[in-house]
Amino acid sequence: MRLGKGRTLWVAAALACVLAAPAQAQVSPGIDALIEQAEAIKTSQPAKFYDVLERLEKRVEEATPEQRLKLRLLRAHGFLMKGRAEPAIRELRQIQQETDDPEMLFWTGSLLVNTYALTRKFEQGLTTLNDILPLATKVEKKDVRHRGLLVAGLLYNQVGEYMLGEQYANQVLADAPEGRNQCAAGNLVAEAALGLKKAPSEEMIFRTIKVCEDQKEPILGGLTRTYLARKWVEDGKVDQAIELLERYLPTVTATGYPLVISEYHAMLASMYLKLGDIGTAHAHANEAVERGVGMTSLPLVVAYKTLYEIAESRGDSKAALSRYRQYADADKAYLNDVKTRQLAYQIVRQQILQKTQQISMLDQENQVLQLQRTVDQQAAQNTRLIVILLVLLVASIGYWAFKIKRVQLSLKKMAETDALTGICNRHHFTLRAERALAECARNGEQAALIMFDLDHFKNINDRFGHGTGDWALKEVAEASKGFCRRIDVLGRLGGEEFAILMYGCDLRAAARVAEDCRVRLAQIETRETGHVFAITGSFGVTSSMQSGYSLAKLLSHADKQLYRAKHLGRNRVCVHENEHENVRAAGSNVLELPQREGRTEHLGA
Ligand code: GH3
Ligand code: MG
Ligand code: MG
Repeated sequence: MRLGKGRTLWVAAALACVLAAPAQAQVSPGIDALIEQAEAIKTSQPAKFYDVLERLEKRVEEATPEQRLKLRLLRAHGFLMKGRAEPAIRELRQIQQETDDPEMLFWTGSLLVNTYALTRKFEQGLTTLNDILPLATKVEKKDVRHRGLLVAGLLYNQVGEYMLGEQYANQVLADAPEGRNQCAAGNLVAEAALGLKKAPSEEMIFRTIKVCEDQKEPILGGLTRTYLARKWVEDGKVDQAIELLERYLPTVTATGYPLVISEYHAMLASMYLKLGDIGTAHAHANEAVERGVGMTSLPLVVAYKTLYEIAESRGDSKAALSRYRQYADADKAYLNDVKTRQLAYQIVRQQILQKTQQISMLDQENQVLQLQRTVDQQAAQNTRLIVILLVLLVASIGYWAFKIKRVQLSLKKMAETDALTGICNRHHFTLRAERALAECARNGEQAALIMFDLDHFKNINDRFGHGTGDWALKEVAEASKGFCRRIDVLGRLGGEEFAILMYGCDLRAAARVAEDCRVRLAQIETRETGHVFAITGSFGVTSSMQSGYSLAKLLSHADKQLYRAKHLGRNRVCVHENEHENVRAAGSNVLELPQREGRTEHLGA
């Protein structure tokens, strides 16, 4: 690959030498020592440098990764010195793949940008620049940072972005740069000022020239003087400008750099033409063409233009035409070159903008997705929560309904049953008995009522204690149950008084049941209480036939019979008979059932 031409490219080439950086040596002997040596002599003794490099290449297998990186850097430098940009770029790119150290990335990136600038690959140069510039703040070595910023200034000047070029170069100047970097930065600032069509500060130019001379940089020093000369021409100080350029022409010629030499001659040619010294102008123009032929550069354009104007002033229309063509071609080539560089900047700028936009769009898309996901999750969570709450609510309602029902049932049971015996209490007995009576009446069935009261129960309490009395009451209830069907109603009316409503039963059947019950009570075994005593009861019986279906009436009649039984000596059943039957029974309305089994000992009065 041929290195590019043009005034600014020439600056790039000059800067490339300045930019070759020294790297730090490591302790490991041998390879490190060689690397150090190569770095020390790489610009001053090229032949020896290649020698050392060759020795290093032979030992590449032993090198540590860090040493290999340094070797690659030296290799790249070697290629660049021979003008072989492509392999140099390959090495530098490889280094970028192999390291994540910001300083190394910045440094190799700067070299890459510089190499791209030299080879006119402006797009790649600008893209790489864009990648490395954000790293600048992480670069601790001032020299490395400055060289990177200078490369940025250089490239931006090349693509016509003089404001950026000036800005980066000024950054370096503001940061107390070392001599060579100050020389390069001053040069870039002056070049940018020229590009921005504003007068550079003479004081700054003089300072730059001095620093460049101190640093033995005649090329950059010489170049800086052209900016001063330009300024003077603009200020109308043509003589002074000619004097300056002529004074330093020998120094510049001694450098052997065609571009800057050509520039001097071209400027002198146009100035002499301005002063009317056609002969001198012609000589300088020819010199400029000779030095700059084949290049795409401004000096060549100026030189051809001067030659054309000289030919025309001499009336040599043939020569004028030919010079004009040369001038036009050089100008076209130069403008094309400028446009190509400016276009490169616009392309990269657009690419970067696009990339930024894409990133921000992706970012926004991501944010939307993230938001969506969060909302979805929240919604799902809310739904889950609602379902859980509903389930809990239903469960707790069910639980409480069940609990309440149970409480209600137990309250109902408590309200209906006699706590001691577990049979119906008086209230509930009344309700059920009335219901049963109504049903019997409706169905044309009979119903009977048995009432009984324990005999001398007070004595049981008194003699054996209330507990035994309770026990006896429970036993009586239990025994009575045995005589009741499901449709019958058994209840404790109070104290030691019980009643049974017998559904669909006539008087006789009821009287038999009463008698069986009386016998059964008398048989209750009391030994478990620790006492032996008899439990007997006096029974009164009536039926719907005699008393009708009114419970009150039935109770009253049965009660009457009960008391009659008491009166007659207890432990017996008395049955209610009709009035007329009573009359027929010869003054006795009592149906006395025969006593079964022997009478138990009576705890009697
Ligand atoms: P009578 O043969 O004339 O009926 O004599 P009695 O002793 O059974 O008559 P009274 O009605 O005077 O006595 C009933 C007794 O029943 C009085 C009371 O102390 C007792 N009693 C009433 N309710 C209970 C109870 O729940 N538990 C116990 N242990 N005794 C009760
Ligand atoms: Mg009683
Ligand atoms: Mg009694």
